[in-house]
Amino acid sequence: MRISPSPPTLALTLALACALALPAVHLAHAAPASNDTASADQRPDFRAWLAGFAQDALAAGISQATLDATLARARWLPQVIEQDRAQPEFVRPIWVYLDGAVSTQRVLAGKTQRLLHASAFDSAVARYGVPASIITAIWGLESSYGAHFGGFRTVDALATLAFDGRRRDWARGELLAALRIVQQGDIPASMLIGSWAGAMGHTQFLPSVYLKYAVDADGDGKRDIWGSVPDVVASTANFLAQSGWRPSEPWGAEVRLPARFDYSRAELTVRQDASAWAADGVQGMDGKPLPAMRDASILTPAGVHGPALLVGNNFRVLLRYNSSNNYAIAVALLAQQIDGGPGLQVAWPRQMKPLSRTEIEALQLALNRRGMDVGEADGVVGPATRAGLRRYQQSLGLPADGYPTPELLQRLLQAPPPAAL
Ligand code: CA
Repeated sequence: MRISPSPPTLALTLALACALALPAVHLAHAAPASNDTASADQRPDFRAWLAGFAQDALAAGISQATLDATLARARWLPQVIEQDRAQPEFVRPIWVYLDGAVSTQRVLAGKTQRLLHASAFDSAVARYGVPASIITAIWGLESSYGAHFGGFRTVDALATLAFDGRRRDWARGELLAALRIVQQGDIPASMLIGSWAGAMGHTQFLPSVYLKYAVDADGDGKRDIWGSVPDVVASTANFLAQSGWRPSEPWGAEVRLPARFDYSRAELTVRQDASAWAADGVQGMDGKPLPAMRDASILTPAGVHGPALLVGNNFRVLLRYNSSNNYAIAVALLAQQIDGGPGLQVAWPRQMKPLSRTEIEALQLALNRRGMDVGEADGVVGPATRAGLRRYQQSLGLPADGYPTPELLQRLLQAPPPAAL
């Protein structure tokens, strides 16, 4: 993956930065002007809950001064609960997601940012062994290189989620971690800014992740992932290194699968050495050899009609940042193109209409009626749904890629189950 980029001149870099109108990285840019007093008594039960949580926080070693600076000013935010409960009916297909995540502009901006902050990246690469392009890509995806942290005060967001979100125990732990950050003096409570879900700063660290992995790289004694690019870059690299990044391996590569490939093996749980995949007939693009990787898996995000990827340990490390395959693929492809490498060569099946949540539920129910046990019909395609769908495809003599299409749903709904024959 470490394809040497041809470095643009500084003049070109600056021209690029101007052309892209890159936002200045200032906290004020992202901080919302939230009014502390506007709705202090908006939810009396929230106030009572805060008082109870404050007692627990005191018992856990948080000082009264920290509580005064944080919980005493916390607000219940209805928009956080709206976001937490949103279940979109239509999930974007991976190619629509990647069009936005790995846009030409984001690739160019990534090259520019890496050059502008070359010394910060060089230090982090030397110290943590994680490629600069991977760190840059995460930065680009998490906040568009610092343009959008999310406009929520982290204490407000987490207190709201701990009060009545879907994962209250988790949010309680993160809220306590946020209070510890303030107490340690890394950043004043008013500057603790991030997403509705509590992720903070340029690369969207949760408070617990911050406590464990944030690094002071510029030597000012503060771990500042809101205002210091060297701290952001080193903290992100430190997280990846401690999560098991292998400097000797790439994230993976696009590959060509042999004819009659058994698609039930295209799961992250199926792992073998890249050389074993090569022996099974998997080839690099343009005749290139497969990269040397242990514990490698095949992924076919759009089934038999789309690209195939060979991914390794480092791809799984990216999943620790955000446990979505689409996210990790976006980081990998963005990094590869920031490094001057190619995007995917095989086209996505863009003509294929994605199934809605309701249609996926119908597909799951129909598979269950046929005895292809896919578990609870939850409208989300996971390994069990893919496995059930593969069994159905096999019964029809079709390539068993486990990818749900409108045609398969139609067949499942029209034909009577075997028991009725
Ligand atoms: Ca610092």
